[in-house]
Formats: sequence, structure tokens, C-alpha cells
Amino acid sequence: MTFWAEAISIDEIEGFERSSANGTLRPSQNKTNLALIGSARSSYGAECEKPTNPGFLKLVETGDVGPFRTTGLRPAIDALKRIMAEINSERPTIYSLLRCEGMLGCRMVRGSTTAISNHSWGTAIDLSIIGAKELPGPGMVQRGIMEIWPIFNRHGFYWGAAFPQADVMHFEASEQLIQKWAKAGAFGAVSVKGLIHRQTIGDRGQEIKDLQSALNGRLRAGYSTQTDICEDGFFGIATRAAVVEFQRRQGLFRDGIAGRKTHRALT
Ligand SMILES: [Zn+2]
Repeated sequence: MTFWAEAISIDEIEGFERSSANGTLRPSQNKTNLALIGSARSSYGAECEKPTNPGFLKLVETGDVGPFRTTGLRPAIDALKRIMAEINSERPTIYSLLRCEGMLGCRMVRGSTTAISNHSWGTAIDLSIIGAKELPGPGMVQRGIMEIWPIFNRHGFYWGAAFPQADVMHFEASEQLIQKWAKAGAFGAVSVKGLIHRQTIGDRGQEIKDLQSALNGRLRAGYSTQTDICEDGFFGIATRAAVVEFQRRQGLFRDGIAGRKTHRALT
């Protein structure tokens, strides 16, 4: 096996904290992608399916991004060309070993029934380093990936290592980058106004995990029989129910959406 393909334990890398990778970049939220890009299909299941909506298909492109050809959302393909060019100039050996493990494919997030995978919009790509017998297992990362993730960050791509359940092969256009593309007109006449951060069903990530933890802390207080909701970083129906219950106790409007007022009451 080549050195760069070797997998190491991500939580044992000295001086590295996966939750603080990505800086201020946030994973793109389903509601943002749906509002700005549209939906790739009319339904999503657990297995990967092709996009079918004609309006969405117009935004899809197949292109040579450098080390391989891939199919994805046009601005994501353009961004990957720039990212790969930079990897090639900074880390040519790693560049020559990069393999695409998948980009555009419509499905739910694995293990979730509420969140659509961002691969559905072709804004996410899974990468591996050629030379390993098998893909790295849970909690493991290939040395080559550890060298190149900051380059993705520089171009507004969020690295999946910071997801509550680390997904180290996964890079996706961040929430900020999707909004930037929309403002530049990449998706036609859409408005990014009103996309303030309101957490709702389908949202996921560290911020949702923080919300769940805050809800558990507040709902537990004074109720000895209170059962905690699972702090898994997925805003599903149980999290919505906890938000509604918290809003009820606070005398807030019970819409099950964690907006500004609910967050203010939580902290
Ligand atoms: Zn992925």
C-alpha cells in the first residue's frame, strides 16, 4: 500500500480536532438547496437513484476536473477544477492518486428518513486515495485526505469529517457557497432572502446536535421522568416534538421550528 493511501485513526491525530475543521463553513441545508437549486427528483429513497426533474437536469454537467471525470452541479464542477488544479500544484503525488467514489446520486442520508443527502444535488463528492485494498472504516482517514482538506475549505467546500458521525471521504459545497452561487445567478432568478438560519426538519450537523443537547438540558430540568431525545445531529420528528414542547413551556408560538426566539429562550 502507498503511504498516502494508509488509513489512520482520525481522533488520534495529534493537534487535530475534527469538529473544528471547516472554520465558519456550514454544511448546506436541505431547505436552502430546495429553495435555490430545486429538487432533483420528486421522491427520495434509501438507495441511489438518478435525477429526473428537467429543470434540475439543465444545471448538471459532466466534466474532466483533472484526475478524473465526474458528473455534478455545474458550479460544483467548475469549483472542483480549481480545487484540483491547486492540489496538483501543491501536492502532485496525492493529486495523481485521487479517485472519485461518487458525486451525483439522489437518496436520503444513510440512516436518516428526514434528511436528503447533498449528493442528490451533485454538490458533494466522495474521494479516496488509490492504493488501499478497501475504503477506510469508521473513524479512519487516509493520510492523503488529511493533507488536502484545507484546500477544499479555501474554496468554500465543507469536509464531512466534522459531521457528528465523521464522513471523511465526503466534501460538499458549503451553505455559504451555495448561497454565493445563487446570488451570482447560477440557478436563475432565485432569492436568497428569507434564508436566515431557522432550524427545521431535514437540517443536520453540529448545530443541530447543539440544539438537541440544549433542548435535553432544558426539558430535563424539573421533570424527573423526562426522556432525552437522541443527540445525533439530525433534525427529525422527535427533535421537532422536543422543540414544540419547549415552545409550549416557554409560551412561544408552537411551530416546531427553532428560529431566533426559540434560540434566545434556550440560551
Ligand atoms: Zn458523500
